[in-house]
Parts: sequence; structure tokens; C-alpha cells
Amino acid sequence: MANGSVRVRFCPSPTGNPHVGLVRTALFNWAYARHTGGTFVFRIEDTDAARDSEESYEQLLDSLRWLGFDWDEGPETGGPHEPYRQSQRTDLYADVARRLLEAGRAYHCYCSTAELDARRDAARAAGRPSGYDGHCRELTAERKSAYEAEGRTPIVRFRMPDAPITFTDLVRGEITYLPENVPDYGIVRANGAPLYTLVNPVDDALMEITHVLRGEDLLSSTPRQIALYDALTELGVAKGTPAFGHLPYVMGEGNKKLSKRDPESSLNLYRERGFLPEGLLNYLSLLGWSLSADRDIFTVEEMVAAFDVADVNPNPARFDLKKAEAINADHIRLLDVNEFAERCAPWLRAPFAPWAPEDFDPAKWDAIAPHAQTRLKVLSEITDNVDFLFLPEPVFDETSWTKAMKEGSDALLRTAREKLESADWTSAESLKEAVLAAGEAHGLKLGKAQAPVRVAVTGRTVGLPLFESLEILGREKALARIDAALARLTA
Ligand code: GLU
Ligand code: ZN
Repeated sequence: MANGSVRVRFCPSPTGNPHVGLVRTALFNWAYARHTGGTFVFRIEDTDAARDSEESYEQLLDSLRWLGFDWDEGPETGGPHEPYRQSQRTDLYADVARRLLEAGRAYHCYCSTAELDARRDAARAAGRPSGYDGHCRELTAERKSAYEAEGRTPIVRFRMPDAPITFTDLVRGEITYLPENVPDYGIVRANGAPLYTLVNPVDDALMEITHVLRGEDLLSSTPRQIALYDALTELGVAKGTPAFGHLPYVMGEGNKKLSKRDPESSLNLYRERGFLPEGLLNYLSLLGWSLSADRDIFTVEEMVAAFDVADVNPNPARFDLKKAEAINADHIRLLDVNEFAERCAPWLRAPFAPWAPEDFDPAKWDAIAPHAQTRLKVLSEITDNVDFLFLPEPVFDETSWTKAMKEGSDALLRTAREKLESADWTSAESLKEAVLAAGEAHGLKLGKAQAPVRVAVTGRTVGLPLFESLEILGREKALARIDAALARLTA
């Protein structure tokens, strides 16, 4: 390895929204670079003009920044191997493809799709390996001219060695592929466009990547890439073959592989729901790794200090939304309360907040924030939890209303109002005494007695601690809301 220093890369294709699998790959690479004092290279694999989009590219950069990743080389940062977008490196690939052809490590293949399909079906029927059969490996000059005279344009195909390929995966140990299972494969399309199969290893070679850490779905491309690396090393394009480590699959609902198309795999969803980046990263790091058997909650710095690819578990990891939320809730509690209040800001204004901006009261917000901090799983829950403070009237949730306003609720509310009227509104304890006393007068425990009061004042049966909420809302508004609920009840 050059200078013995680790160089890892994160090289997504800008297609669609970033998903959690991608983030886990970025995280493990980034953590490994930071742990080893190495270099984290960020490269954009945008060679598929039909699927890539500029919007997706912008989103990727924005997501990585939101998560707190920094890259030592890559878009906008620059570096010694610029450019870091494959769409701007086409000449490099054409040059390498030409040299592979010259050296006989690749060849032109003129087979049409129909011919390939027919031979594959025949091979299958005969129980032979069904990959590319080497048809064009040794074409004579005459055959080639004849094909060209027919108007065929060839693809470039890489010639695989006729020997097994063995490598030691950093996560899964030694793996061997037999030649019949890894046939010759295309590296340049008939129209001259280079494929992932070529550009990904070529760039890893040129960017002197030492460790390729990526998802298990790419494992089957590794023997091909190792063979290509040998050829690139022979040509002087590569300085050797990197080490490979394949991160375990992430399983979703029903023990099926979590797919990019599953809604719960979309990074934006977590961001919009108000996951903290540190909470999400903590959770994603547990998909194949752990800090220690008895600690689920840790900071990203703690992860970096401990992270080694050798400790990644090859078994499939299960994506568990409940656990992700529980971990996020813990990270919310770990914030300094001012920091918590600040991070909630986006959900305290339009389009999330239903109240008029001028009705937002910072003093009330400061007072309620510590009570909310210990109860949220995700930050977006803040809006519904505090809207009673900033809306002129509570929004009645009809299910809550029906549940709390039973026979006799009007009598209870009347007594509660009376007791509350003479309570000390600077003390949540005093407000609690008032509702407790009202309950006693009607033979109800505190829990039952406070439900109609809570719905009258906040609109819902569940929410932040009631007596603190009442104190912060204030006497006048709270009593007026009880009156309005009584009117609604008797109407
Ligand atoms: N652009 C490829 C992908 O997003 C990268 C694969 C790799 O890491 O080698 O799947
Ligand atoms: Zn062919």
C-alpha cells in the first residue's frame, strides 16, 4: 500500500434519492479512513446518462454534509486525482480500453443480443455454464472484417484468466471463484460508452484506493475486478490490487433484503421525520458492527475511535425501525437543552407548524422545551406536542375527544375548573392538587380525572406532562378552554 496509508472511497451513482444502505457504506468507509488517519475519497459514478441526474448529485452532497461527513478528495473539495465525476473522465477510460485491447487482455465481441441469448438458452438446456462462451476470443482478421461488413459494431470484452481466483475478503475471509462461473465480460458498449465494470476499477486504480468497502451485492463483481487489476498492473495503470471487504446485506420487513424502493430505506424520510444525524449514524453503524456487547448508544467519535473493518459481522443485519427510533430518542436526550431547542426550529415554523408565526411565543417555547426533550423519538413530533401553546384554540382530535369525554365529564370539568381557578398558577404541583381534588369529589383517580382536562386544553389524550403544560399555557387561556369544552359538551 502506497506509504502504508489507507485510501478508501465512497462512489455512489447519482440515481434517485440516497438510501440507508448507501449511508451505511459511506459511514463505514469514512469511519475507517478517520480511524486509520487515512484518506476518504468521494467520487461520483455518473456514467449512466439515462439514469443519473444533477438533482440527485446535489442531493448526495447535501445528504453527506447533513450527516457530518467530510471528504479529503472529491467534488467541490478537489484533490490530486481530479476530476471526481466520472462523466468528466471519459478520455481516461477510452485510453485504458485501447491499451487493454492492444495487450490482448480484452477483445472485440461482435455477438448480437439475439445470438447471445440463443447460445445461453442452449447451454442451459444442455446443463453447461450459461455465461459468455468465448465465441469472439480468437476471431481471425477475416471474420472481423466480415462482421464489420455486415454493419456490426463490437463491444469490448475483458478476457478472464482460465484459472480460479482466490482472495481474502476483509469481512468474509477467503473466497474462491472458478473460471466457469466468471465468464468474459463487457467493459465498453458498442457506442463507445465505458461501463461500470471498467470505470470503477480503473478509477480505484488511478486514485490509488487501498481498501474497497462496499455492499455484499457487489461481491460477484470482485473476481472480475481482481482479474482486471492484474491487467491494469501489468500496463502500469494500477500499483497493485486493493483489499476488498463486503458489508452484510440489510434485511427489511419479512426478512427480505431492504431495497432502495422500500419507503423505509429513503434517507430523506429520516431527515424529514427529524432523526438527528448522530442518532441515525449510531443506528446505521449497528448494521453489521457493534462497539461492545453492552453499549448501543455512542457518539460518532467513539465509533471512529473503535472502528475496524475486521470486526464487521458477515451475517445479514436486520433493519429495525423501532430500534432506530429508540436510539434516536436517546440522542435527543443527550443534547444540551438549548441545542435541542435549536434543532427543533424547522418544525416550529411553516410548513410544519399550523400556527401564525406571530403567535409563536419564545418564552413559552423555552419553558416547554425541557419537558418535550425527554419525550420525543423524532424531532418532527414536537409540532403536535406544543401546538396547544401557540394556536388560539386547541385542535380537537375526535378520537381523543370521544375517549375522554364520557358520561359525567361535564360535572368533573366544572369541579376541576372551580379548583383550578383558585390554584397557584406558578406551581404545577398546585395545579395537580386541584385536579386531584376534583377527581376525589367524583370518585375518580388522577389518571381518569385529568383526561378530560387534557383534551379540553390541548385537544388530545396524550402529550407532554399536563400540569407543566397548564402552568406554561397560563391561567386565563386554560380556564377559557375548559369553558369552551363545557359549552361543546352541553351543546
Ligand atoms: N457506483 C457503484 C454503486 O453505486 C459503486 C460500487 C462500488 O462500490 O464498487 O453501486
Ligand atoms: Zn462475441
